Amino acid sequence: LIPIAQAHAFVLASCSSLEPSRIEITAAEGHVLAESLHAPEDVPPFTNSAMDGFALKAADTRTVPARLVVVESVMAGQHTSTVVGDGEAIRIMTGAPIPRGADAVCMIEHTRSETGSVVVIEESLDPGTNVRNAGDDIAVGAEVFASGTFLGAAHIGVLASLGVSSVLVHPLPKVGVLSTGDELITKPGPLKPGKIRDSNRPALLSQLRRDGFAPVDLGVVGDDEVELTKVLEHGASVCDALVASGGVSVGDRDVVRLVLETLGGDAMRWMQIAVRPAKPFAFGTLGPTSVPVFGLPGNPVSALVSYELFVRPALRSMAGMQNLDRPRLSAIASVDLRRQPDGKVHLMRAIASRTEDGTLRVEPCGVQASHMLHAMADANALAIVPDGDGVAAGDRVEVLLLDPEQVEPPGSEGPW
Ligand code: AMP
Ligand code: MG
Repeated sequence: LIPIAQAHAFVLASCSSLEPSRIEITAAEGHVLAESLHAPEDVPPFTNSAMDGFALKAADTRTVPARLVVVESVMAGQHTSTVVGDGEAIRIMTGAPIPRGADAVCMIEHTRSETGSVVVIEESLDPGTNVRNAGDDIAVGAEVFASGTFLGAAHIGVLASLGVSSVLVHPLPKVGVLSTGDELITKPGPLKPGKIRDSNRPALLSQLRRDGFAPVDLGVVGDDEVELTKVLEHGASVCDALVASGGVSVGDRDVVRLVLETLGGDAMRWMQIAVRPAKPFAFGTLGPTSVPVFGLPGNPVSALVSYELFVRPALRSMAGMQNLDRPRLSAIASVDLRRQPDGKVHLMRAIASRTEDGTLRVEPCGVQASHMLHAMADANALAIVPDGDGVAAGDRVEVLLLDPEQVEPPGSEGPW
């Protein structure tokens, strides 16, 4: 049995970031920038008003109320060449360019209109009040985002504000998913004796999509070396990584292990990992571009746990992302987390929640067996129970948060 960390390091050594490519910013969300980006222009591009109000000379508001003559008005999108003189103001809307001569804007709420074209200013202003200077968000030439920045919605907005239409990013890996096993059925309808429905492929495809990658459905393959070889070779020609489930144990028909031994390149390794669930695992690379192939165990819980331990971090690394693993936090066990010593770390499907004082607590959900997927559906965390007799209620235990958004108790009112 090898430690999780060793298998993790072995896999990551063969999964370097994908060759950068240029994409439109509208498709760039969720990608990691592969270039350092400098501002081609100022944002804002011109000095403008932060308020609806009156552009004026601050010096004219030293004694208030001050009566100023309104000589013009300028809306967002317009421009005026009129210069604001002493004792004058220009009516201005948010986002409109500050006219020449003006150095402050009095917000409309602090003014009164008088008959004719006079406005009464009721507040003394310092120069620069309610003025947004050209380049005060981003100055032309400044580094906007460093290479390695993860692009979210606000980043895309910044790029758009700069007139940048495409960026160099690490592609999100295209990941082929296949299930293996003569017992697997995909069609609806009654099951023949000995057959079961394929749950790993739909679950893995969903998880990949959720994690921001591009899943490719490669279907179900029987326990047949020739057929499996064909599917893997085709998959490696159209995908950046392949994820197979089933067929990596010590059984007679465990063909993923056998086929990867033949095809899997120098990196091929079949492992027994000191963890429960997800003990058997195979990893190799295929084809001229060394496409990583993950052989996950067939048991549905094991497949998803193995995905969390090895596949997700490896794919994140291929996408150029940092923080490859799920957050690992210290929690208090709400109940005894019982187990027997067996040389393995147990990853219990669990629910983590915060108490009112902010303490993270964790309790196991459902029966901890690797064919019982329902407990995985209920879980938002895996409790990491080290080898030994378990963790007593009230003691500390580390948890891997599978779904950080769901750590609050159900029905919690939220922060506001
Ligand atoms: P294996 O790793 O191929 O020996 O499979 C271990 C267990 O997982 C067996 O009970 C299989 O029937 C089950 N299994 C394998 N693949 C799947 C799958 N795609 N969906 C549901 N169960 C599976
Ligand atoms: Mg099998």
